[in-house]
Formats: sequence, C-alpha cells, structure tokens
Amino acid sequence: MSEIREIETTCVIAGAGPAGLMLGFLLARQGVDVVVVEKHGDFLRDFRGDTIHPSTLEVMSELGLIDEFLKLPHTRAPKLSAEMGGRTVTIADFSRLPVKNRFIAFMPQWDFLSFLASQARRYPNFRLIMQAKVTGLLEEQGKIAGLVAETPEGNLTIHARLVAGADGRNSVVREKAGLTVESFGVPSEVVWMRLSKQPGDPNEVVGHGGPRQGFVLIDRGDYWQCGYVIRKGTFAEIREKGIEAFRHMVIEVSPLPADRMLEIRSFDDTSLLAVRIDRLKQWWRPGLICIGDAAHAMSPIGGVGVNLAVQDAVATANILAAPLRESRLSDADLAAVERRRSFPTKATQKLQLMMRSSRRADQADEGKRKGPPAFIRGIARFPALAHLAGRLIGLGFRMEHVRPR
Ligand SMILES: Cc1cc2nc3c(=O)[nH]c(=O)nc-3n(C[C@H](O)[C@H](O)[C@H](O)COP(=O)(O)OP(=O)(O)OC[C@H]3O[C@@H](n4cnc5c(N)ncnc54)[C@H](O)[C@@H]3O)c2cc1C
Repeated sequence: MSEIREIETTCVIAGAGPAGLMLGFLLARQGVDVVVVEKHGDFLRDFRGDTIHPSTLEVMSELGLIDEFLKLPHTRAPKLSAEMGGRTVTIADFSRLPVKNRFIAFMPQWDFLSFLASQARRYPNFRLIMQAKVTGLLEEQGKIAGLVAETPEGNLTIHARLVAGADGRNSVVREKAGLTVESFGVPSEVVWMRLSKQPGDPNEVVGHGGPRQGFVLIDRGDYWQCGYVIRKGTFAEIREKGIEAFRHMVIEVSPLPADRMLEIRSFDDTSLLAVRIDRLKQWWRPGLICIGDAAHAMSPIGGVGVNLAVQDAVATANILAAPLRESRLSDADLAAVERRRSFPTKATQKLQLMMRSSRRADQADEGKRKGPPAFIRGIARFPALAHLAGRLIGLGFRMEHVRPR
C-alpha cells in the first residue's frame, strides 16, 4: 500500500481527457504545480472524439509540437462533404483558413492524450495519477479546497487552491459542487460502429452516405467509423429486434455494400452516444472551475467537442496561470474564464440546435429519412458558404492562442 494518502498542490484537475490534460500541460508549462487525476488506467477508449480541428493544430504549432504531433498516424480531411441527390457536395472547406494546417486530422483520441501526457510529464511540477476516481470535494468556509479520489490503494485526498472539473459530460465535480446544468432537448442518439474499408468504397473522408440521410461515414485510414443516427430511447427496441434487423436498417442508409454489415456480429460491436446539449449556468464556485464537456456537452454536429475542450483549456491557462503561481487567485479570475468561453459555447450550441431543427423539420417522419437537412441544401446552392462553415467548424467562434512562457 502506498504511503502518500494526502497531497498538497496548487491546482488539481479531475479528468485526463482533452480538456484536463491540455490544461495540466499548459499550467505546468507556466510553472504551476499541477496534479491530474484520471479514473481509468489508460487512455484506450474507442469511439471518442477523434477529430483534431485546425484550431487545435494551431495550438500545437504555437507550442512548437506540431511536427512531432503530425508524425502520429492520422488521416486528413481538407473538407467535409455530404451526398445530395447522388452527387457529393462540399459542406465545409478549410482551405482558406488563416492557420498553418488547413485540415481536420482524424487521430485516435488515445494517441492525442498519450502525446499530451508525455509532453506534460517533461515538467517536474506536473503529475498524472491514473486509476484515481474523484468521489468528493473538500470544502473550507464555503470555498472548494481540494478533492477526494478512490484509488486501488484507498482514498487519496488532494488539497489545492483550485479544483478544475474536466471530468466530462457526467461530471462528478459539477454535481458535487452543486452547479446547475441547463439542458437543451435533443432527441437523438448515434450508434457508432467500425466497418472495413475496401477497394471501390466511396472516396469521401466524411459524409452522410447514401441517397438518404442519417448515416455518417468517417475514413479512418484502414477502416470506416460509421455513425447511425436513431431517435433517442429507441436503441433498446432496436436491440430487441436483433442484429439482423439492425443490419438491414443500416443497409438502407449506408453507401457501403450490404455484405459489409456482416462485420457487425453483435451489438457488442456498437457503441451508443446519447446526443446531449447542455451547459452550466455558472462554470465556477470559489476554488473551482469546470471546463470542456463538464461545463458544456455538445452535439456531435461538426465534431467540435474535443476542440472546444482544448480551447477552454488554453483560455483557462492564459487567465489563471499567473494568479495561481502568485497565490492571488480570485473569484473574478474564475468569472473571467467563464466570460471568455461562454460566448463561443453558446454560439456553437445555438448553431447546432438550429441545424438540428432544420433536420427535424425535414424529417418529421423519422422512418422516411428523406433528404438532406436545410443547411446542407443551402450550402449546395451557395458553395461559398462552405468556407464559412469551414471557419465555424475549423476555428470556432473564438480562437484561443497559447501565451508565450
Ligand atoms: C462516442 C463519442 C463520439 C464522439 N465523437 C466526437 C467527434 O468526432 N469529435 C469531437 O470533437 N467530439 C466527439 N465526441 C465528444 C468528445 O469526445 C468530447 O467533447 C471531448 O472528449 C470532451 O473532452 P473533455 O476533456 O471535456 O471530456 P472527456 O473527453 O469526457 O474526458 C473526461 C475525462 O475524465 C475522466 N473522468 C470522468 N469521471 C471521472 C472521475 N470521477 N474521476 C476521475 N476522472 C474522471 C474520464 O475517464 C475522461 O478521461 C464524441 C463523444 C463520444 C462519447
């Protein structure tokens, strides 16, 4: 059994996802003592956000890490396309973005996280503790003063000037802190699955395949990552009908040959993502801040979750590093983080909700899954809009830049 059951640090971060690791790395780089606690023993999770957008690539450039980072296996999408009436339409074009890397890099999230962790570990004031699941917060005179985590060796107590909740959409930190979540109903789910890539397959990196809609195809190099959109709450019913019936539903909307569906041997080969849009009414309490999915769960439209999480981390480090290092962190600093990131969050969610409602109006009868939603038809009519969409997806509403050390 380990001897150290209590740790003192400056900032403890719950969750080693994109938000938590990036924040830990940036704070450590700015000379702040950081401990990141992660409930899993590794980063190996399938079907997570695997899109690294131009804004995140720019952050990696600013950190001087881009060349090393792009040596990791990835595929590149300089544009996103959708199929409409049998032709492929570019719905987001990144070619004119004012950044060095004008593409989305598809890279397994575990590679991205392992890379960030290895960079952060170069700083002696950075510490990552795996298999440490946050279960509670420490509070002193109305102020959050640290957290408690369960580890295989027993409970670990970490005292800190700041707790950062980066523990994702089911955040324990935000729940224990009593922060209020506002939800925006989005009645759908995505069933993710993996199908092999073979000669003669469509030549698209991302698309809504087939003459009908409701299917997303992402080229992952040697396989396709496929997302099948269903109405919320219907997965149990679909499972009851059996795998054969499910394969037929996918065949209806997929541009891939029907026999490819035999690769989905059982529902164990699928992963369900509940599409959720929510955000905290207030992102902070004295001694605590939430960022990334813990502050705002995004819909998968545009695949912006990872990148918003990274942008939150950059802004948080920019605003809080000096106050933390100089022991002068105030509530005003925490409120400044929320002010900085709340506009891009709200604007992105609003856009996602508008895109969803245009789709819903088009698909009032879910069973028919007829044509593309209105925004895709709009872009097909006015191709210049694909550059605007590229900017909103690729860079977001407010891009953050890493401060020099
Ligand atoms: C199936 C699926 C597909 C997705 N596809 C995309 C996509 O294509 N593009 C995109 O941008 N986004 C996508 N997303 C969303 C994206 O993964 C998230 O927006 C992004 O990862 C958010 O980063 P985060 O660091 O805020 O949270 P997370 O990535 O959720 O990381 C939170 C971390 O906290 C850890 N944790 C949780 N609870 C505790 C606890 N109690 N104690 C300690 N650690 C804890 C978790 O294990 C995790 O490592 C997808 C999500 C899912 C589920």
